Amino acid sequence: MNAIQPVAEAEILKDADQRPSREDAEAAVRTLLRWAGDDPDREGLIDTPDRVVRSYEEFFAGYAQDPTEMLARTFEETEGYDEMVLLRDISFESHCEHHMVPIVGTAHVAYLPKNRVVGISKLARVVEIYAKRLQIQEKMTAQIADAIQDALDPQGVAVVVNAQHQCMTTRGIKKAGVSMVTTRFLGAFKDDLATRQQFMALAGLS
Ligand SMILES: [Zn+2]
Repeated sequence: MNAIQPVAEAEILKDADQRPSREDAEAAVRTLLRWAGDDPDREGLIDTPDRVVRSYEEFFAGYAQDPTEMLARTFEETEGYDEMVLLRDISFESHCEHHMVPIVGTAHVAYLPKNRVVGISKLARVVEIYAKRLQIQEKMTAQIADAIQDALDPQGVAVVVNAQHQCMTTRGIKKAGVSMVTTRFLGAFKDDLATRQQFMALAGLS
């Protein structure tokens, strides 16, 4: 059983008592090393379980972060700005929930403000939070758009994600260079072709 968890970590798993300990996680890595056919006690691997667990803390840091909270601070002094706000080429690394191997790509995120805007770095942060979880690209794309929609209540949101899945490029069908594109258009981006076309042009997608 774990000691008392910091608040942020406790949110990862609602019942903190059920969360495996760090020692449990390192033991699991040792098991995988032995299962792969190697000796976890040899010099080169002796610190590997510790390193893998540290890496996982980084790869999956998004479970401890709440996008709604992060987006909560909005600004209403916009001088009536109601044109598109677009952040493009947001690079991200995620992990596919089926194979736990990397998904590496970029996201373009836009919204059409109604009354409120959010600090521009927040659009990158929302991508980061959802990326640092186990994902499928379709779900991640929808989550990013929905979080911005919920936080800002804008006239519309557009998200395009373009990524390579190493579960497809390095194993299985092994198709190097293949990338997957997913989109989520809400509000004006969904209903108004001209708005969507403007977004595609500004994002360099058309
Ligand atoms: Zn996969």
